Amino acid sequence: MASAKTTKIIIVGAGVIGACLAYHLSLRPQNVITVLERDIPGVGASGHSFAWVNAFGKDPRDYHTLNRRSLDMWYRLAHKLDTDIGIHYGGEMRWENKTVRAAQLEQRIQQLQTWGYPCKLITREEMLALEPELSPGAVETASHSEADIHVETDKFISVCLERAQESGAIVHSKTSVTDFVIRNGKIAAVKTSDTEFSCDVAVLASGVQTTELASLVDVHIPQQRSPGIVIKTTPCTQVLHSVAVIHAPAADENHQHLHLRQLADRTLRIGQGTQEGINRDESQEHADALLDQAKAYLPAIADAKAIPTAVGYRPMPLDGFPILGFTKAVPNLYIALMHSGVTLAPLVGEMATLEIVDGARVDWFSPYRLERFGKTIK
Ligand SMILES: Cc1cc2nc3c(=O)[nH]c(=O)nc-3n(C[C@H](O)[C@H](O)[C@H](O)COP(=O)(O)OP(=O)(O)OC[C@H]3O[C@@H](n4cnc5c(N)ncnc54)[C@H](O)[C@@H]3O)c2cc1C
Repeated sequence: MASAKTTKIIIVGAGVIGACLAYHLSLRPQNVITVLERDIPGVGASGHSFAWVNAFGKDPRDYHTLNRRSLDMWYRLAHKLDTDIGIHYGGEMRWENKTVRAAQLEQRIQQLQTWGYPCKLITREEMLALEPELSPGAVETASHSEADIHVETDKFISVCLERAQESGAIVHSKTSVTDFVIRNGKIAAVKTSDTEFSCDVAVLASGVQTTELASLVDVHIPQQRSPGIVIKTTPCTQVLHSVAVIHAPAADENHQHLHLRQLADRTLRIGQGTQEGINRDESQEHADALLDQAKAYLPAIADAKAIPTAVGYRPMPLDGFPILGFTKAVPNLYIALMHSGVTLAPLVGEMATLEIVDGARVDWFSPYRLERFGKTIK
């Protein structure tokens, strides 16, 4: 793909992945980048995300390493963009109040340390030194993963798109891709309801809609449904002073674990269970119950009010791992579909650029090609 001639690249979707890719691709002067977004940037999974950037619970080792690399790349990307991109540093703190769960956490920390992940077990006193307003209740064991961050995705997406536009990219919001024009086995143009955009490369960074869009050119992208809810609150007291994210244990058998982060406007984002947990409860009751659980651990947020949020759908390939790369059947169609896209955005933005512009095949992506799903997949 590398040449002095202009390459017209269309990115379908302006979530964290499409925006970060637009930024990286637009740094190459021979590229003409167009981003087509059916709504407004960031309203897909990226706007519903808990946005914890981490490699904490990522298995197996290869996938952990992929996420770890990207986590480290966030620091470099922040330095390069050199403006407020909504990053909150300070790591992730968690604790357990039941013996079995405590033993599991200790084992996990040991495993992660073997893999070189910057995390450690901490005492109750160390927890309170990090977050003095925490009222953790019983603590069997606790940990701190120092490098983890969280990101305000709307800020990050805006900055990436602005920088891409400064480098000549064109971003069309409220522009839904409806079809593709195929010529000589390749995508010659991307169609919207009222026009078409000719291209040399089409990138699907369209989240859950990637399967539907790829099917228009007969490429099958296997996905599972993965609904989740992260509730919002009204602004409240600044309650997290050091760490970016906390994971708190379930209050009892009727509840699940809780995760919480605070944004610069002092609103909170709260979710339950794991990062992949299924939840469709959009009710005020559910939002209130989650916030009440959080208030038990952080009494200072008594003034916060829960705002129920609509269910968000994680882009989730069938086996849970990313799908990255050009397709065999349509050689100028590039797929970038993944869960943990907030964690993975810097790595995908930078490495997919090497594949799209320079024609490289990045080794790190080898386990994540579409072909792993077998012969039925084109
Ligand atoms: C509840 C929840 C919790 C999560 N927690 C975390 C977490 O803690 N850490 C983490 O790393 N990840 C987390 N994720 C996953 C992460 O948010 C996603 O992997 C990431 O946002 C995917 O970004 P994306 O840009 O690929 O997709 P999206 O943000 O969904 O963007 C795709 C865009 O494509 C657009 N589009 C779709 N079809 C068309 C079309 N036909 N024409 C034009 N545009 C189109 C959509 O409107 C959308 O804006 C979570 C997700 C959810 C839902």
